[in-house]
Amino acid sequence: MIKKDVIIIGGGAAGFFAAINIAENNPQLQVAILERAKEGLAKVKVSGGGRCNVTHAEFMPSELIKNYPRGEKELLGPFHKFMTGDTIAWFEERGVELKIEDDGRMFPVSNSSQTIIDCFLSEAQKHGVDVLYNQPVKSIEKEGDAFVIQTSDNRFTSYKILVATGSNPKIWKILEGLGHSVSEPVPSLFTFNIKDERIQDIPGVVALNVEVKVLGTNLWSEGPLLITHWGMSAPSILKLSAFGALELAKRDYKFLIEINFIRQSSEAALDVLKDLKQTMPKKTVFKSTQFDLPKRLWHKLVLASEMSETTRWADLNKMQLEALAKQLTSAVFNVDGKSTFKEEFVTAGGVNLKEVNFKTFESKYVENLYFAGEVLNIDAVTGGFNFQNAWTGAFIAARDIAKSV
Ligand SMILES: Cc1cc2nc3c(=O)[nH]c(=O)nc-3n(C[C@H](O)[C@H](O)[C@H](O)COP(=O)(O)OP(=O)(O)OC[C@H]3O[C@@H](n4cnc5c(N)ncnc54)[C@H](O)[C@@H]3O)c2cc1C
Repeated sequence: MIKKDVIIIGGGAAGFFAAINIAENNPQLQVAILERAKEGLAKVKVSGGGRCNVTHAEFMPSELIKNYPRGEKELLGPFHKFMTGDTIAWFEERGVELKIEDDGRMFPVSNSSQTIIDCFLSEAQKHGVDVLYNQPVKSIEKEGDAFVIQTSDNRFTSYKILVATGSNPKIWKILEGLGHSVSEPVPSLFTFNIKDERIQDIPGVVALNVEVKVLGTNLWSEGPLLITHWGMSAPSILKLSAFGALELAKRDYKFLIEINFIRQSSEAALDVLKDLKQTMPKKTVFKSTQFDLPKRLWHKLVLASEMSETTRWADLNKMQLEALAKQLTSAVFNVDGKSTFKEEFVTAGGVNLKEVNFKTFESKYVENLYFAGEVLNIDAVTGGFNFQNAWTGAFIAARDIAKSV
């Protein structure tokens, strides 16, 4: 039996961040990470397209929490203790400078996730964290005050453990055995599959500011929309996939969306179109793109409105004007399935949040058992918020663990 003061299960983002902070805060403690793979930090490596979107330039806790479909209420207190600004400072103090991109996402200036990995590995070594690879945890049991952890080839014991295994169903089963309940995992952050003449052959087209509703629900979002080979993506869609993760899973990813491409009412759009009929009667509708829409999208919407490439504004009848106004402001598309968003995808689901004390990230049911990261039922929209949840939980748990062993 190998004895440690603190055992971290999972050598990912939250696990490393916690281990380093515990060892730094209390150098007396023997801290070990048990990682199932032959290397840790695999998701950090591929994150943000290999650049690692570490956090987001949002510095108000009350605003930051709005990016978490699950965890919004629970993270408010923790973000007052450790949030984005603290993350930036933490990395800067260890020689990793971060930069802000126009949309608020923050990356290492090196543009390489390896910078984050190198930082973690060298900090772990500097503070004497024992990182043990090829140690998949098979069981966790309480024997008296101590935990006994069985991996495939070793037994470990410690008085405090932190579970940072991300979205791992086997660990969730083990945690259920310890008395916790787990919300059923479903994917979040995905793109919508849509086959429709109006978006066919125009991949790469971006409408900068649309409103999207899922018909028959209260789900809606706004922001940029990207047309892809398979359907639609970009923040307006990804936000819906995150906030609607449970609802859309229930519908087996088959539903209708309504898009307002120009963020105007149908009446206002119709007035503009009627004016255009008066002011440019001889021009073809097809060739006179309006409302700052991308030309190729305008072409598609025009052709979907009962007219041809040669129809002139003067020729438009009431039905055609109304059809175009409708395509611009309330175009309905049939979503049939989802695809992975390669930059970042997460799982909604995990340890139920009411079972965790968010002042310390300790279990309310099992003393000295802590959680951080995606193992909890917390997830966010894309933009660096998922890592911020990992850093915040790990830091707060680490502070409590370090002071009380
Ligand atoms: C392709 C991709 C890109 C992403 N990009 C970003 C991004 O740029 N910004 C962002 O904020 N978020 C991003 N995310 C989400 C982010 O990676 C996760 O939210 C984050 O990694 C969660 O951290 P974690 O420590 O909880 O889990 P993980 O990073 O998944 O780490 C869990 C670790 O536990 C180990 N483990 C699991 N089970 C066991 C076991 N039984 N025994 C021992 N070890 C075990 C795993 O091997 C793993 O190393 C991305 C996700 C993906 C998939």
